[in-house]
Amino acid sequence: MTGTRRMRKIEAVEGIEARKSPIDGTGCFATAAFRKGRKIAELTGERVSRVEAARRMRGKERLHICAIDPYWGIDSSVGGNAAQFINHSCQPNSFVRIMHGHIIFFALRDIAPGEEITLDYVESYHSDDKRCDCGAPKCRGTINLIKR
Ligand SMILES: [Zn+2]
Repeated sequence: MTGTRRMRKIEAVEGIEARKSPIDGTGCFATAAFRKGRKIAELTGERVSRVEAARRMRGKERLHICAIDPYWGIDSSVGGNAAQFINHSCQPNSFVRIMHGHIIFFALRDIAPGEEITLDYVESYHSDDKRCDCGAPKCRGTINLIKR
């Protein structure tokens, strides 16, 4: 990472790395091949309550908190690995499963080394007005999937 943004310690994990993304800021990239359906990584970090998550996110443009359930979330900016930088895409190559309180990313299709790992956030802490610039041919225009 370059520039004036504060450097954070990123926990090393095999198969993924954080670097500059054409989608947004820093992204998460595969350094190994992942076959469809295989685990990519767990989103690690500090477990925080919904109230604490809301407090930490106030006024922040980049969010690193992912919900586990209606009460708990993971703040991956504290002790997290490169998975915290997985950007949103409307046509992603990964999906997430929450298993026994763990947030785990899996390959939605075969992923080659060097590819950016992306996820459809569907329902994030971002406002529903937040525009999407993922660049996918079928970009829906917003990061959150707005149900009408
Ligand atoms: Zn999009």
